[in-house]
Amino acid sequence: MVKRLRDYGLQSERLLWPTKGPSRFEEELGVEELEQALGLTTLEKAVRWAQTKSMWPDTFGLACCAIELMAIVSSRYDIARFGMEAFRSSPRQADLLIVSGRVSQKMAAPLRQIYDQMLEPKWVIAMGACASSGGMFNNYAILQGVDRIVAVDIYIPFCPPRPEALMEGIIRLHEAHHAGVPPAYERRQVAT
Ligand code: SF4
Repeated sequence: MVKRLRDYGLQSERLLWPTKGPSRFEEELGVEELEQALGLTTLEKAVRWAQTKSMWPDTFGLACCAIELMAIVSSRYDIARFGMEAFRSSPRQADLLIVSGRVSQKMAAPLRQIYDQMLEPKWVIAMGACASSGGMFNNYAILQGVDRIVAVDIYIPFCPPRPEALMEGIIRLHEAHHAGVPPAYERRQVAT
């Protein structure tokens, strides 16, 4: 049950009218509605909001999925509306790694190095079947899921995922961060 302001003991008019109970305002509004109505927030929430509106992806593509990744900067998909069109060529300026394609064993060490050099907080999206699980490449040469070497926040299915699927994954990541879900590497540290 939603707690209203009156349930917290608020009676804003009691100084002027001691016998009056909670006002209509306090009867009807809860804390969240009050926050929305007045635009109140906390510094933590404001920072999280700013971070979701300016995630900078690392310029990193591995295989066919990378072609779909490139499409999201086009005018049709327009990743700029999320403040994310600035793909960075240095991991030191990026906080989002979109692993788009199969990861060969040979590529695992460079990928991990890029991940280690990224800013914190940082997030990882495993784009497509190959990055998520090795996909059709069930063999010794391909890593059977990038989560063996980095903590993954969002998995996107399909082979290849369309740009819309990647956008969906990005929106889910934003929603999770906005709701206070810590990045996957923090959760993994807690779990181990
Ligand atoms: S999931 Fe499909 S499109 Fe993506 S890298 Fe693997 S084979 Fe290529």
